[in-house]
Amino acid sequence: MKIFTLDTTLRDGTQGESVSFSVEDKLLIAQKLDELGIDYIEGGWPGSNPKDKEFFARAGELKLKHSKLTAFGSTRFARNTVEEDRNVQALIAAGTPAISIFGKSWDLHTTRALGVTEEENRRMIQETIRYVKNHGKEVIYDAEHFFDGYNANPAFALRTLEAAQNAGADVLCLCDTNGGTLPGRLTEIFAEVRRRFDGILGIHTHNDSDVAVANALLAVEAGATHVQGCINGYGERCGNANLCSVIADLELKLGHTVVGAERLANLSHVARFVAELANLPLRKEQPFVGHSAFAHKGGIHVSAVLKDSATYEHVSPEAVGNRQRVLVSDLSGRGNVLYKLKQHGLADRLGEDARRELLERIKQMEYDGYELEAAEGTFELLVREALHPGLQFFEVESYEVVTRSSGPADSRTSASVVVQARDGVHSATASGHGPFNALHLCLRKCLSSVYPQIADVRLTDYKVRVLEPRKGTAAKVRVLIEWSDHRKSWSTVGVSDNVIEASWKALVDAIRLELMRLTEHDDSIDKAVEDYCWGV
Ligand SMILES: [Zn+2]
Repeated sequence: MKIFTLDTTLRDGTQGESVSFSVEDKLLIAQKLDELGIDYIEGGWPGSNPKDKEFFARAGELKLKHSKLTAFGSTRFARNTVEEDRNVQALIAAGTPAISIFGKSWDLHTTRALGVTEEENRRMIQETIRYVKNHGKEVIYDAEHFFDGYNANPAFALRTLEAAQNAGADVLCLCDTNGGTLPGRLTEIFAEVRRRFDGILGIHTHNDSDVAVANALLAVEAGATHVQGCINGYGERCGNANLCSVIADLELKLGHTVVGAERLANLSHVARFVAELANLPLRKEQPFVGHSAFAHKGGIHVSAVLKDSATYEHVSPEAVGNRQRVLVSDLSGRGNVLYKLKQHGLADRLGEDARRELLERIKQMEYDGYELEAAEGTFELLVREALHPGLQFFEVESYEVVTRSSGPADSRTSASVVVQARDGVHSATASGHGPFNALHLCLRKCLSSVYPQIADVRLTDYKVRVLEPRKGTAAKVRVLIEWSDHRKSWSTVGVSDNVIEASWKALVDAIRLELMRLTEHDDSIDKAVEDYCWGV
């Protein structure tokens, strides 16, 4: 059966604490939602703020092929007629083909918050919907707090729906506005409304009880054919129903048509696109679209998944535009690394011994605290070294670093480094802003005459993590450094109980890798590394 979707990322989604979109962002997202095949895009509340008003004013720039743009607003105020109600007039002025109107279903809100009688509340619902219908709009009536209202006074709540339907609403959407309704009760109430009302019923759920997606799916099973939610589950407080999961479940598990198989394969891309514009990291473990949604780490899982992916994957990752990933770690068997190498035709280029050695090295490093999943540069270096065991650019003979502080003056740091390069021994001394800076300057001085290209390698991020907190200041640390040479960026990792040593190891690896890359450009290695580190 066709299930219609209303995406409210641009309206309810922006109520989320850390979500904010510019008008430009909103236009880009609307275009993307149209490509995904969303039926209604709720763009905002034109009567409530200038940004939303501007969005609708500029909506003509959009080239929507499928979606109907929808403006959102409340029923008229109690003291106004519809003609003089600014909010209702702003809805009409938004110029959208569809309009969502929310009204009260809970007697508590009606009498306490609004201070109007039940009859007046029904008149507000009816007159607003009728007025908007007379302007040729499709009307989605959002019954706010419907489930709480029904629990408090079922007859009252049902009479508000009747008023909306009699006034010509095209969709009656039941909202769990506070997100407190559990699946069992929601299903009971929804089924009862389905029994009493013909026409299209919708569902709008919030995630305060962590069941927004489940509630949306159960409502569909109880007869809803219109589902509202947000991309990535953004939204007020704990968020709205995550539309990515709802769409995937309806299509892949319940056999409904929502956006169709072809567009469904675009789902992960849309999720990442919206997260990017929201400037929020996409939750790795987000079902269906997260980077870890089809990532396999445990050795037994990996060997099984390689034989038949259905053993540990509930759907095919390609169906939602995601992909399977096999992670390397001390938890896993050697199948994981081998899998990556094989995938790119590298396994055959390594002899049996070299392959075993590489696997052992990776396992030992991860056991020591290296985290190669986040350090694609170090992984790449290991693969390149295994492929070219004879390739040595330089050997570190010694390094020394001193930080001296006396009296109130700032401390001073100097370092010296000795390396053996192919044309002989080089040594350098330098002062720096701190020990790591001083060492970096020394290494550059030592190598710049032989390898001038390394001058481009710059640090762009630096993170330290304590691996054995029980040992206090004596603990081993892991230093993860991000580098860039203007063409690409990569990370290397160093582990030691000495933070300088850990940083130094990561630095030396970064320089070695740069030199290896410049010497031998190998696409298959790049591909293996990209794949291995995808999503980190
Ligand atoms: Zn809501």
